[in-house]
Amino acid sequence: MDNGCGLAVIRALPFVQPGLDAVGNKKQTLDTIHQTKTYLIFMKKFMDDNFLLETTTAQELFHNHASKMPIIDYHCHLIPEMVASDHQFSSITELWLGGDHYKWRAMRTNGVGERFCTGKDTSDWEKFEKWAETVPYTFRNPLYHWTHLELKTAFGITKLLSPKTAREIFEECNEKLRLPEYTARGFMRRYNVECVCTTDDPVDDLRFHKQTAESGFEVKMIPAWRPDKAMNIEKPEFAAYVKQLAEVADMEIKSFKDMVDALQKRHDFFHANGCRLSDHGIEEFYDEPYTDSQIDIIFSKALRGQSLSILETRQYKHCFLHVMAEMDHASNWTQQYHYGAIRDNNSLMFKQLGPDTGFDSIGEFTTARAMSTFLNELNEKGKLTRTILYTLNPCANEVIATMLGNFQDGSCPGKIQFGSGWWFNDQLDGMTRQMNALSVLGLLSRFVGMLTDSRSFLSYPRHEYFRRLLCNLLGNDVEKGLLPDDMESLARMVEDISYNNAKNYFKFY
Ligand SMILES: [Zn+2]
Repeated sequence: MDNGCGLAVIRALPFVQPGLDAVGNKKQTLDTIHQTKTYLIFMKKFMDDNFLLETTTAQELFHNHASKMPIIDYHCHLIPEMVASDHQFSSITELWLGGDHYKWRAMRTNGVGERFCTGKDTSDWEKFEKWAETVPYTFRNPLYHWTHLELKTAFGITKLLSPKTAREIFEECNEKLRLPEYTARGFMRRYNVECVCTTDDPVDDLRFHKQTAESGFEVKMIPAWRPDKAMNIEKPEFAAYVKQLAEVADMEIKSFKDMVDALQKRHDFFHANGCRLSDHGIEEFYDEPYTDSQIDIIFSKALRGQSLSILETRQYKHCFLHVMAEMDHASNWTQQYHYGAIRDNNSLMFKQLGPDTGFDSIGEFTTARAMSTFLNELNEKGKLTRTILYTLNPCANEVIATMLGNFQDGSCPGKIQFGSGWWFNDQLDGMTRQMNALSVLGLLSRFVGMLTDSRSFLSYPRHEYFRRLLCNLLGNDVEKGLLPDDMESLARMVEDISYNNAKNYFKFY
């Protein structure tokens, strides 16, 4: 029974005494009425205004402080062309199922055939219908929250998605997507985004970033430098990539030094276009010793298409990442390392669909020693720039959270950062665990906070989700007496982690 304000009476049990009949409504006296126990509990409504906010302190922190802060989404995979052209989406299917391998994974797990996930000849409605059939089976998976938070905040739809509501939700979303405020830029405005950093290859001409800036769009779209293809020397496409880099940099590349010179040119070009941030997707950190002549030999072998030993590959990656880190330091950029994924596990599906299609998982690499060596080498030379470390394996949360403290040097608050719960950890439990590890082993107050790491223009509610969790953690501590009820300090902390820390840390503009 729902009384309309979140207070639900779940049961009123008569306290039956010996001698009374089982029904208990005969001979009701004042005494027996007084002995009737009524059990009242607060049953919260699903995803109401106080979603995830269990205490009044948390509610005050979120509604009065966190929710008003703009979004700096400092790492994402938006397609810059879609922002430049202010892309209008053809349907909710394009937005939701066009490239979202999280949803494809859930659908496959739920028994949905591949043609409804990635098929080319399947209609938008058929795909959406299969997703709607899957949604009720995603209880307790973060997709259930993401889906309904996106429906609510983007489209104002509070109905639950299921086969029963699929058609009306499909049509309502598609109707809205035809309106001018539901374009790529419209969504960025709706969610109060101030700045996004995309993920870009060094050979990119950044034309869409320039077009967007020249168009006067008030949200800043800044490129971020991701030179993975120049690092992945073991991949068959490495030599072709080096050729492409040579063309773009307008120079010959015959040696490793040439390649570094070409990358420096591109690094300067990115810097001139506002880039202040790099990112590396690595399995592990590398610390294998190398000499310059070994690197030259390894590089030449790769250009000739000869295969490399595992040791040679790791020596090269160690050297490459070190040189890139020096470049970032010289330009006063921030560097990010995303490590710990084991990718493309299903070779049959890899051949069919390529990378990033939902066949990656958490690796279990032992990387603390190599990470320490790598950061220490840079620190010894005075070339360790601001750094963010993201682990895919939550078992390493405490490893990272304690690694940070080894290299904090007082040059700026939180110089070495523990990145927010990434990918499989980008959910209620994962974000909470990351913040708890950072709290007890570092300074949560200096955390640069959330990022979407997403291709979707509907992912911004993840910032809201994160902020609600953050406020909830603090609110619970206050109500348990673990933190003082000092609203001024708590509000500052929440506003800093939501926005101010990132603004001050990255120095984008
Ligand atoms: Zn990413």
